[in-house]
Amino acid sequence: QDRSNCPADIEQLGRATWTFLHTAAAYYPAKPSPAHRTHMFSMLSALPSLYPCHHCAEHLGSHMKTKPPVVGSREEVMNWLCETHNEVNERLGKDTFPCTTEKLDERWKDGPKDGRCD
Ligand code: FAD
Repeated sequence: QDRSNCPADIEQLGRATWTFLHTAAAYYPAKPSPAHRTHMFSMLSALPSLYPCHHCAEHLGSHMKTKPPVVGSREEVMNWLCETHNEVNERLGKDTFPCTTEKLDERWKDGPKDGRCD
């Protein structure tokens, strides 16, 4: 059956959300203005109240209590998101991702050097 126009399940919602968040982080300025910082911090801080998977949102909320979003630069946001995503990966028994700027840029902004994503 064609499920392409069905409501998102937890996995699809998660993949779409991570895609948006990691991509937004990769294009966030290296030297953000005060407005940029406020917007990024507000958006990330709002997720535990707005993310439409109740138990996911609860886990995220407790994670953010000890590790609040760090939005002082592109690299800081990318790293914070990567660590936050890894916390979910570990809880779900998935592989973790190497949180280096090089690997994150390759995955979410530039694509691999062999050009297969160009
Ligand atoms: P995803 O985990 O969706 O990852 C997509 C792609 O991101 C991967 O293919 C990989 O290339 C890349 N990637 C992986 N790890 C990282 C990283 N650390 N940094 C950068 N890139 C990375 N599901 C639940 O069942 N329970 C939960 O409690 C839960 N909480 C969630 C909380 C949030 C905030 C979000 C956004 C999603 C949550 N999910 C949860 C969904 C879950 O994280 C996955 O999105 C879903 O299981 C689909 O997984 P996937 O294997 O397709 O890849």
